[in-house]
Amino acid sequence: MSNAEQIWDLESIFPGGSSSPELQMQLEAVRTQIAALQAQVEALTSGLTLEQLKTLVHDMQDVQINLGQCRAFVSCLTAQNVRDNKAKLLQGDLGQIGASLAGVFTAIDHIFVSIPEEKWQSFLEDGELKELKFALNERRDVAKIKMSPELESLVTDLEVDGYHAWSHLYYTIVGDMSIEMELAGKPQTLSMGQAANLLSSPDPKVRQGVFEKYEQAWSEKAELFASTLNHLAGFRINLYKNRGWDDVLSEPLQRNRMERATLDAMWAAVQGGKPHLVKFLERKAEILGLDQVAWCDLWAPVGDAGKEIPLAEAKTFVVDQLRKFSPDIADFTERAIAKRWVEAEDRGGKRPGAFCTSLPLSKESRVFMTYSGTISSLGTLAHELGHAYHGYVLKDAPLFLRRYAMNVAETASTFGELLVVDGAIGAASTPEEKLGILEDKIGRSVSFFMDIHSRFLFETRFYDARKKGLVSAAQLNELMAGAQKEAFLDSLKEYHPHFWASKLHFYSTGVPFYNFPYTFGYLFSAGVYARAKAEGQGFAQNYARLLADTARMSVEDLAKKHLGVDLTKPDFWEAAVKLATDDVEEFLQLTQK
Ligand SMILES: [Zn+2]
Repeated sequence: MSNAEQIWDLESIFPGGSSSPELQMQLEAVRTQIAALQAQVEALTSGLTLEQLKTLVHDMQDVQINLGQCRAFVSCLTAQNVRDNKAKLLQGDLGQIGASLAGVFTAIDHIFVSIPEEKWQSFLEDGELKELKFALNERRDVAKIKMSPELESLVTDLEVDGYHAWSHLYYTIVGDMSIEMELAGKPQTLSMGQAANLLSSPDPKVRQGVFEKYEQAWSEKAELFASTLNHLAGFRINLYKNRGWDDVLSEPLQRNRMERATLDAMWAAVQGGKPHLVKFLERKAEILGLDQVAWCDLWAPVGDAGKEIPLAEAKTFVVDQLRKFSPDIADFTERAIAKRWVEAEDRGGKRPGAFCTSLPLSKESRVFMTYSGTISSLGTLAHELGHAYHGYVLKDAPLFLRRYAMNVAETASTFGELLVVDGAIGAASTPEEKLGILEDKIGRSVSFFMDIHSRFLFETRFYDARKKGLVSAAQLNELMAGAQKEAFLDSLKEYHPHFWASKLHFYSTGVPFYNFPYTFGYLFSAGVYARAKAEGQGFAQNYARLLADTARMSVEDLAKKHLGVDLTKPDFWEAAVKLATDDVEEFLQLTQK
């Protein structure tokens, strides 16, 4: 395949990369728009007419579309070349613009709150605003339960050198950490990310060796990170207390537009599926020649990873699998590939990981990844193209109705990935290859059902303890290992007590409780996939309509409307969990002696 087919087209968005004059013009236009919006807000002395509200709502979305276009473009630049210093400066500019816009939005939200209830609801019956009712009510409701605009803006100011600073400090220290190890007879210095990757090495000595050093490295920083985690949590608890929020889960649940009963029903179904995964871990131990699987063996490969799949073949395979379900999705995906929305080249200087970003102004998407020819790389390609399809379905909706939450964000991506991975299992040329793909797939269920559940248990318990006072590093270890033991049904030989120090998500100030939305997303998508398998192509239209509604209602309403199910009840979740346990049954059969 020629080079040009592996790299994406960014020139048609803003020509000239990080030196693009067109990009500078767009940024200047956004700054002007924000200043105009600010002036508009200041000019509103008392009361707000329907026309003024409509103008505000229109302008809020318009400026976000224009800013979003720049943001997406710059994120592509920084990903494709980590040494693009101009792109880094642009990122800084965007941060500042974003902060000034957030300030104006906070002021606007409080104007919304100040409108008397009856008047507000009558405004929302207006033709143009009616469609946005959900989004506008949500904005106003969230602003209502916060403190006064003066206090909230003080919080935002203080967060920069307090809350967020603790998080930045953590990331900086982790970036500097390394492990010295002898690999294949040569001494090597590994970053923490590289070390973590070695935990999926087929060599048990490498896995154990790395894991010991890995735990050791985190334990050396345990006091430092324990105090960081305590201050982050302390900040959050105090802020919640001042806002009058007594449950630490209220913010994450609200952000994910879901009810507590839904979360409980989901975990209950997960719990019911776990004994199957324990059987899987037992069989995996046998295959690996171990008496019991330890934490460091969880990602050890089993079976054969299969032959290398060239990128061109992978693209065709993805499109062919999608076509079996929906010709529309297949056609869209084919066009996205032909228009070079995908950056997949395996070269140095690229950021690790994969993502899909949508360009709200040009109504396109871009997919970023480093394609390596493995089955998991093929899955990633399908995953990211699934995100692109989600963006495509939403592209003509008002911006406020394109903002889906984290828990439904993975619906289309996981769906596409499941479709393609199952296709690959069906197309495997040897039993060993089939086993390898299946094992990789079940490994993801282990992560979502057990590992992420342990993070949820840990974080909930940690917050309870933190409310009473500081929690020591030793106590954190105890809480973590205890949560892991419980979430894995006591099935591992050894746990990872310093996991709390190593997991970046615990230190994120952008997303509180960065855990259960993952499991939700995976199972929600699996449940939709189960329905698609049962109903076949006839479900494709429903599927597109469901995706189109992901940012227009609560997840409970979404499921009721498009799947006819009640997410607060176990049925839907149990059907989704069963897909994973069926995989385990197949694995057990395939590996029976
Ligand atoms: Zn994703």
